[in-house]
Amino acid sequence: MDCLFCKIIKGQIPSSKVYEDDMVYAFKDINPMAPVHVLIVPKMHLSGMSDITAENSAVVAHIFEVASKLAKELGISENGYRVVSNCGADAGQTVFHLHFHLLGGKKLNVEMC
Ligand code: 5GP
Ligand code: ZN
Repeated sequence: MDCLFCKIIKGQIPSSKVYEDDMVYAFKDINPMAPVHVLIVPKMHLSGMSDITAENSAVVAHIFEVASKLAKELGISENGYRVVSNCGADAGQTVFHLHFHLLGGKKLNVEMC
């Protein structure tokens, strides 16, 4: 399958790894929108939020555990941060492998959309 993030997970395309375990991979966004901008992705290929089901949602719960842990480790937990997943055309999703943006390190825009 020709998926950019699957290739990053397999190490076929280089990335700045922040965290990895058996279920998830986290790496710095190539075009950061904030001082801390990490992408957290499941190792299993899901195309986006719409692919989440009762059968695979444990990985999403795990991603949020990892997000909380990384926010603490990266020093943004105290001041605050945002976790975002864009789904589909209206949200501007550009990579069709489920991913969560972890954003922080500055005062983020209050308007979310
Ligand atoms: P989306 O727009 O789908 O929500 O987010 C995709 C994100 O992937 C964007 O923030 C974009 O900067 C990031 N991205 C795209 N290609 C690469 C890449 O090759 N490496 C890394 N580290 N990030 C990428
Ligand atoms: Zn993929």
